[in-house]
Amino acid sequence: MAGEPQADCLFCKIVAGDVPATVVRETATTVAFRDIHPQAPTHVLVIPRVHYPDAASLAAAEPQVAADVLAEAGAVAAAEKADATGYRIVFNTGSGAGQTVFHAHAHLLGGRGLNWPPG
Ligand code: IMP
Repeated sequence: MAGEPQADCLFCKIVAGDVPATVVRETATTVAFRDIHPQAPTHVLVIPRVHYPDAASLAAAEPQVAADVLAEAGAVAAAEKADATGYRIVFNTGSGAGQTVFHAHAHLLGGRGLNWPPG
């Protein structure tokens, strides 16, 4: 069922505590943890506890949780002082855009200059 944990989903396993992660913040609806292959000094993933394959499907089904993910990304940026120099929130959607884990997640990137357009 939509939103339910998926047995084969890495990020559902992190939510459940079955796969270890360096968690930096948690709320009733979200978990934020450090990316295992950081692309910037601050690279934190913010995920909903519920399972949806991407950000748009999460927002369509549970808009408040999607808002929670965004708010948490901002809170992490502030906690990491990434807001002082600017930061980026990215939702890769689809394999052609680089999505490799099909559980909605925001990348919070900061702590260095970020070029535009992204590659
Ligand atoms: P995507 O490519 O936008 O789907 O982002 C998935 C991200 O998850 C990548 O940046 C990976 O480095 C990261 N990742 C994969 N496995 C783990 C893990 O076990 N812990 C933390 N981050 C992970």
